[in-house]
This record gives sequence, structure tokens and C-alpha cells, in this order.
Amino acid sequence: MKAILDHVGIAVQDIDKALAFYRDALGLDVHPPEEVATERVRARAVPVGGPSLELLEATAPDSAIATYISKRGPGLHHVTLRVDDLRAALAHLNARGVRLINSEPRPGAEGSLVAFIHPSAAHGVLVELKQRAEPDLRLEVKTLGFGDLQLTVLHDGPFRLDGGAMFGVVPRPLWEKLTPADERNRVQLTMRPLLVEASWGRMLIDCGAGDKMGAKQVDIYALDRSRALDHALADVGLTSDSIDLVLATHLHFDHFGGATAQVDDGLRPRFGKARYLIRDAEWEDATHPHERNRASYLQEDFVPLKAAGVVDFFSGDRVIRPGVRVERTGGHTGQHQVVYLESGGKTAVFVVDMIPTTAHLQDPWLMGYDLFPMETLAFKKRFIRDAIDREYLIFFEHDPKVAAGYIRESNGKRFVEQVL
Ligand SMILES: [Zn+2]
Repeated sequence: MKAILDHVGIAVQDIDKALAFYRDALGLDVHPPEEVATERVRARAVPVGGPSLELLEATAPDSAIATYISKRGPGLHHVTLRVDDLRAALAHLNARGVRLINSEPRPGAEGSLVAFIHPSAAHGVLVELKQRAEPDLRLEVKTLGFGDLQLTVLHDGPFRLDGGAMFGVVPRPLWEKLTPADERNRVQLTMRPLLVEASWGRMLIDCGAGDKMGAKQVDIYALDRSRALDHALADVGLTSDSIDLVLATHLHFDHFGGATAQVDDGLRPRFGKARYLIRDAEWEDATHPHERNRASYLQEDFVPLKAAGVVDFFSGDRVIRPGVRVERTGGHTGQHQVVYLESGGKTAVFVVDMIPTTAHLQDPWLMGYDLFPMETLAFKKRFIRDAIDREYLIFFEHDPKVAAGYIRESNGKRFVEQVL
């Protein structure tokens, strides 16, 4: 069994008085108080590196903390170890004759599952085991009217990428608060192609990773193909053949891997009736990869399209169809572009990998994957200012929970008001 120190619980008589030591004397950050009604305690977390100290004050005389203090006085109450699979851990301990207080997992704070081991088995220490809540993953297909356009958030299932690579120079203790990592240091993401429907037809912006990945990649990226783009299209009564146009933001596999499909006699365009719209300079970069971007540009994702004669190349920033305009950001790749959707006096922006998730709202929170991070930073600073001031509706392609929302700012802090 692998276990990581999550927190150390400290029973205190008065949680606010305890701040004089933990916050003022030690100078530690202390989180706001949180009421845990089921345990009849008030808690304040004090992060110390990865794990934290948790100050616990009883809110009722029958609280375990009140009982503890009346017997032994305030002090160290419990140690919490985090495990990946609580049920398996309990079975493992049970089989070794370890005395448990809870033989079954029970609900803990923030959707976690917890169980206590009896102190007699742990040499006088009350040990809590905890399994963190799976981060919410929302894969609903939702449609929004937007002037003359109809926008539908699709998805090509969940995947995971290395947390360090997703947040570049930001240290893990900071990003982990927003996006927990699994035991392999990966964070939960998803791929959300956007369907734009208008009088001129149906356009898909990006098309996910597709189904060509081998078992090794499926494992590395934690792809779950039981919930993928075909299912999302079916949710709105469409199939791959319903798509007229497929626009590539850039040609990385998690954005355009779904453009081709393996059939018996080789690789074919996956959207049988569609024209594929690709920026010419991005095509040049993608077909001439170097050591740093080779793992992201998989030739089988796009080369077969040109061979099949279904690509329409375009150059530079331009209006692709009425209401759909691309603008190069650079940064992530040399030709990475975002897509503006403009209709009825409103603007929505599909921001792709410039702001991949709602955890990337702060200017310097850039992906380690970016080839030219200073270029991303320059574009992003300007863009977010505009997005806040002009109330752009932002579509987050990789966010596991928030498909779209408005970026707001209050007291210098940015947050997203979720719409979809
Ligand atoms: Zn991406």
C-alpha cells in the first residue's frame, strides 16, 4: 500500500486563539474556517509544504474533539494518510488483523472517503485513511444560441497530462490546490471540440484525439474512449458525416488526432463529407517537426488528409466563415491560433491552449509545453484584459469541469463565472 501524508489533525480549545501561534508566531498561511457539520467541528487548514496541519475545534459537546480534549487536553489528535483506493487499503489491513474503527469507507470533507484505524493498532496514534474525491469531470453536451450561430460544446472524452508540464514554472504546491494530481503526477483534463452551426453549415473546431492511439499511449494519457466524440455527436443527433468543415486550431494530437481514422485499408479522413481547414504555416511546422515538438505532431493525424485531397489551406489571420475568425497567438506552437465567434454584437472566444483551463487565469501560469512562452504571455496579458473589459464568453477546451464562462475580476483576483 502506498500512503502519502495528507494532514495532521490538532485538537484545539479555541481555533481563533490558536492563530496567535500558528499564524502570527510561526508566520504560516491559514485557510478560512470550514464547518464540518457531520463531525461537529470547525476546521482551519494550515498548509506546510504538501501536507497541512488541521486545527480542529468542537462545535458541540458530543463532538469527538470535545471528548478528546476533556480526556486528554488539547494536542495532536490524528494523522491522515492519503491512499488511492481506500476500500482496497481497508481489505489489506483487515487481512493482516489490524483493528479498524471503520471497516467501510465513509464520506469525508469535499467529497473524499475516509476511515479510521484504531489507535491501539497504531501504537497510540489515531490514523485516518483518506481517498480524495475524483475531480469532477463534466462531459455533458450543451448547446447555446449565440446571435446567428448555434454553439455546441462537444467532448472527446477525458485524458490526463503531467501536472508539472501543464503549469510550467508554477510549483506544485500552488497548482495542486486548483488541480489535484493523481499518483502518477497527472491532472484531469478533457478535450472539448466546439460545434458551430450557421446558415453556411456545420463546422467543428478541433476534433479531439481520436481512436488511433495504441495501448501504451492510452495508458500514459489515461484516455477513456468509452466517452468520446462519436457519443457526444450522437447526443445531438449527429454523426461524423454530419460535419461540413473541420477547422484546426493547431495540429497537436489532442486537438486534431480525431481528424483521421484507421480503417481496414489504411488511414482515412474521419469526417467523410468534410473539408478540413488548416493554416498553411502550421502545416509546414507540423510536417517538419523537431525534437521538442515531435511527440505532439503525429503525422498520421493529418498527412492522410492532404493525400485524400480534402484540405483547404489558408494563410494568416482571417474570417473563415461569417462569424468565425482566427487570430494567431503563437506561443504554444509557432502558429497556434484562437477562434473568435462574433454574432449579434457579442463575442465568444475558443482560447485553445493559450488558457487551457480555468486554473490558468493568472498571466504567468503558462504551460511547460509552450514552445515560445514569452509570446504566450504577451498575447495572454492583452487578451485577458480585453476579455474582462468586453465580456467575451470564453470556451476552455481542456477544462474538466467548466466548458465556458466569463472571466471576472474582483479585488485583483480573477475567476470564471461558469455558463456551461
Ligand atoms: Zn491542447
